[in-house]
Amino acid sequence: MSHNSEFFHPELETLTRDQIHTLQTERLQKTVAHCMNSAFYRERFRQAGLKASDIRTLDDLRRIPFTTKQDLRDTYPFGLRSVGLEDCVRLHSSSGTTGNPTVILHSKRDLEQWAQAVARCLWMVGCRPDDVFQNSSGYGMFTGGLGFQYGAELLGMLTVPAAAGNTLRQIKFFTDFGTTVLHAIPSYAARIYEVMCEHGIDPRRDTKLRTLVIGAEPHSEDTRRRIEDMLGVKAYNSFGMSEMCGPGVAFECKEQNGMHIWEDYYIVEIVDPDTLEPVPDGEVGELVLTTINREAMPLLRYRTRDLTRILPGECPCGRHHLRLDRMKGRSDDMMILKGVNIFPIQIEQVLMQFKELASDYLITLDSRDNGDFMRVEVEMQNVNLDDYQSLKQLEKSIAQRLHDEILITPEVKLVPKNSLPKAEGKAVRVKDLRKQY
Ligand code: AMP
Ligand code: ZN
Repeated sequence: MSHNSEFFHPELETLTRDQIHTLQTERLQKTVAHCMNSAFYRERFRQAGLKASDIRTLDDLRRIPFTTKQDLRDTYPFGLRSVGLEDCVRLHSSSGTTGNPTVILHSKRDLEQWAQAVARCLWMVGCRPDDVFQNSSGYGMFTGGLGFQYGAELLGMLTVPAAAGNTLRQIKFFTDFGTTVLHAIPSYAARIYEVMCEHGIDPRRDTKLRTLVIGAEPHSEDTRRRIEDMLGVKAYNSFGMSEMCGPGVAFECKEQNGMHIWEDYYIVEIVDPDTLEPVPDGEVGELVLTTINREAMPLLRYRTRDLTRILPGECPCGRHHLRLDRMKGRSDDMMILKGVNIFPIQIEQVLMQFKELASDYLITLDSRDNGDFMRVEVEMQNVNLDDYQSLKQLEKSIAQRLHDEILITPEVKLVPKNSLPKAEGKAVRVKDLRKQY
């Protein structure tokens, strides 16, 4: 395949809004008809008094009941599929904290289409066949491994499937293989930089890194800028989830102004998580996705639990696919303290504005006699921790700024670099001790 343009799939990436709607209508009708091969959706439609042929337009989509993570659990492992198991060639599973894990099945065509979507995303941020792509995701059930692997190979890059962990080895691969593009979760990208510093390696001088793909966990704009400054790269936000295959759902273009969601694969709705009604244009709500380019296990109106909004306006890059704002978190991440709703990302946004602070922090919610409280422990950059007076002063001003943002004054505790626990995969940012009994 030869691609000479800025686009990997020029005809699909540059569809006009009208063309997107026509394609979506056609694919929605096809998907709904296909879903009638699934015992689950047949029963859902019967209960709702709906026939597949009732869904003719994009507006009709709203007549279909939502599909939830609980539905995936209840039908574990294979109950939601729309094809026979003999037509499935892979499954990915994500383990929940409670109950059954969820399983997503893929046919050969699904895997091909997934790889096409990932290749499209990587091409969009400037990856080309002469790049060397290193993936620091866990391979296996986590979709960030194989998902990026097949997309990067389809694009034609030399791939380094380094997998998770062993940071020194990752860094050796950068220098030995001339890695130019790295996929890492944001907390790990910061960790890689720290280890480089400890070993006297300067990413600008000693590596060819120039592009970073960061995703899988919420992070603020300041965190992105920090990672870019540390490693001397451009970092692009990548959004995906195993229920929608994995990576390749929505991705920033070079403009870095929101993530284009591929509307030839997904129909996007943003709903109020309580009323389940659509929110007014541009407002934050729960992202609901319908897969319209999937064979083994299409999902209709899947409630992702992720909170975001559709950015208004046109992107100068020439793609008309909608852009999602940075994820605000998941509705299940929301903390309620003294009746106030707080998202971890609000705290991160404040912390990352203080240059004295490093990237890692931990929010603890706990109770004592006079009620619930929040403690925010945050690692310092290499600052003198012995100067008690100025430490206390800094803690105080952080607490004040946090109060401005979340209307609660947490206890702020500055801790030495690398003293907070590090997770293997996605960072753990919140510990709620109130729930332990
Ligand atoms: P998993 O299915 O284990 O890959 O997890 C998917 C979840 O990770 C999504 O539903 C989001 O909550 C989160 N996630 C993935 N990508 C991003 C991103 N770029 N920003 C924020 N959260 C993300
Ligand atoms: Zn764009």
